[in-house]
Amino acid sequence: MYLMRQIIPAIIATWSFGLKAAEAGMSILRAGGSALDAVEEAVKVVENDLTIRSVGLGGYPNMLGEVELDASIMDGSTLRAGAVAAVKNVKNPISLARKVMELTPHIMLAGDGAYMFARILGLEYRMPLQPEAEKAWKEYIERIMHSRPRKGTLDFWAKYLHERRTHDTIGVVAIDEGGNIAAGCSTSGLAFKMPGRVGDSPIIGSGIYADNLAGGASATGLGENIMRFCITRMVVEYMHRGLSAQEAADTVMKSILKRDENAKYIAVIALDVKGRPGASTTYDTFEYAFMTANMDKPELRLTYGLR
Ligand code: ASP
Repeated sequence: MYLMRQIIPAIIATWSFGLKAAEAGMSILRAGGSALDAVEEAVKVVENDLTIRSVGLGGYPNMLGEVELDASIMDGSTLRAGAVAAVKNVKNPISLARKVMELTPHIMLAGDGAYMFARILGLEYRMPLQPEAEKAWKEYIERIMHSRPRKGTLDFWAKYLHERRTHDTIGVVAIDEGGNIAAGCSTSGLAFKMPGRVGDSPIIGSGIYADNLAGGASATGLGENIMRFCITRMVVEYMHRGLSAQEAADTVMKSILKRDENAKYIAVIALDVKGRPGASTTYDTFEYAFMTANMDKPELRLTYGLR
């Protein structure tokens, strides 16, 4: 059906929950919808799933037992972007981020300001902590109260959080039949983080980047490592210079490891202007979902970590 078109709509999304995100986004792309609409819908499906502990209001809380959410969205046709950081009591931070982009002269709103904006728009949503998340938070507080004080090094945190798999991001990049590229992502961030901690996800150029002239990318993993390298901006820049999504993703990850071999627990997905997917990671393995308009359902793909 799409064989005669130049661009076959395609969508890529992080982790195994990316499967349902890709499916939701593709139904919009197939109906002739925009990449931006597809990305928002794809991210929303994961935010709405309260069994997921790393995205949306079902996510793990911060140290005070409050869920603080980060999200961003970028339109590659205009290079406009919107983001929210450390926002509470919002069910779909991705939609709030889109409203920041479309209705305000700003790119990012944080904390109380973002919440106030959500209230004005009727996007406020209050919900108690999910029981499983509350139990894990209480256990964590109990453990740190009885443990010897430790240095708050990044390596200690990274290892601790990684071993318990307490963080992930839904990151999505889509290309529509008009060749427009959009990217978006959403996360509850690191479990039991310090209140006010903001990760890479709402930072344009770290969590996401999209440019119709080059491609789009979204990152996941330890935000403190992703932000140091502005990963998604770098991946898009390499695609701009002519590399495929896969080549660009690998090039960036290799350059990061060359600069700091301890830059662990990060991954990136990308789509280039031809709709080709790419993914690269410094995790041991990383799963992502990919689907084109020619496929019946999304595929879960596995990529192995660069050494
Ligand atoms: N990048 C997210 C953060 O640091 C978490 C993740 O994707 O695992 O907040």
